[in-house]
Amino acid sequence: MWQAETRIDLNAVRGNVARMRATTTAEIMAVVKGDGYGHGATRSALAALAGGATWLGVCSIDEALALRADGITAPVLAWLLTPGADFDAAVANDIDVSVSDVGLLAEARDAARRAGRPVRAHLKVDTGLARGGATAAQWPQLVEAAAKAQADESVEVVGCWSHFVHADSPRHRTTDDQIDAFSAALTVAERGGVRPRYRHLANSAATLTRPDTHFDLVRPGLACYGLSPIAGETFGLTPAMTARARVALVKRVPAGQGVSYAHTYHATRETTLALVPIGYADGVPRAASNVGPVQLGGVRRRISGRVCMDQFIIDCGDDPVAAGDVVTLFGSGADGAPTADDWAAAIDTINYEIVTRFGSLRAPLVFD
Ligand code: PLP
Repeated sequence: MWQAETRIDLNAVRGNVARMRATTTAEIMAVVKGDGYGHGATRSALAALAGGATWLGVCSIDEALALRADGITAPVLAWLLTPGADFDAAVANDIDVSVSDVGLLAEARDAARRAGRPVRAHLKVDTGLARGGATAAQWPQLVEAAAKAQADESVEVVGCWSHFVHADSPRHRTTDDQIDAFSAALTVAERGGVRPRYRHLANSAATLTRPDTHFDLVRPGLACYGLSPIAGETFGLTPAMTARARVALVKRVPAGQGVSYAHTYHATRETTLALVPIGYADGVPRAASNVGPVQLGGVRRRISGRVCMDQFIIDCGDDPVAAGDVVTLFGSGADGAPTADDWAAAIDTINYEIVTRFGSLRAPLVFD
């Protein structure tokens, strides 16, 4: 019998992608970095592809290679590479790479020459996030180098792309500025002889709310897993992850009993405490001490006292709870249990962080 499990509804992933598929003419790159936001990269990728995605997005070449090792043949873009990255493996495994500067482009070309075939590159332009991408000042130089590499067939420029600053509020005026900056960069690229098949900019929020950002390809991550990028709106998405654990031990304690490390919680009357065998080593944030929402015995409750490395405690009052009972930390919300959004609100973070943390509750993911 499982003690703790993170269960993934792959049908939900497929359905969420299909929902987006129906609302855009752009192709969909399902973002499966970070082990598919904690949902299992390969299984999530397969579900997303079944839902109509045609591309997959990851950060590292290693993440892309893991998808290939699992037999996934769809185009994969790896977008966060450091000097010395394994471009040889990227070329050999048909992995598209993002390039933000001429140094990395040169490394990619070397690998292409060794392999005797072009490396597939997406040129990244920084339109304001100040993260990856060539700045507007560097962009013409990158375009020129890419055009040369195209001419000698060491590089196939497959895409030009960028990423939003206000990833969760696409109506922000910065988004409009970034669309303009992106369009200007595309014009520079075109004048320099670089006309990629794929221009891409939109994450989940923009995919769901701003068709004018879709260009040829959208890159939703969060929405594939059924989580909304915008508080208060669900967009008809179904959350795919449910995190549960079983009560390990139940005990009656007297009024005034301090609970867990440092006694940051005290029972106000004689009560029943339920011990839950997962803690921060399993992904339960320590910041959830005294605030993390759970459901036990059909009732919403809160974590009582500090979250420990391997366990936490719930004050259940006089309710009839027993060892072995199931505690739901979060799920789809359909049964009244908390959601990843409830957890994010309770500890002042974002739903992205909640699901990526809970990817493995000391046990393999379970897929439906
Ligand atoms: N594109 C890039 C470059 C990203 O880093 C991410 C995620 O952080 C995404 C797309 C997907 O974003 P979201 O999960 O908000 O859809």
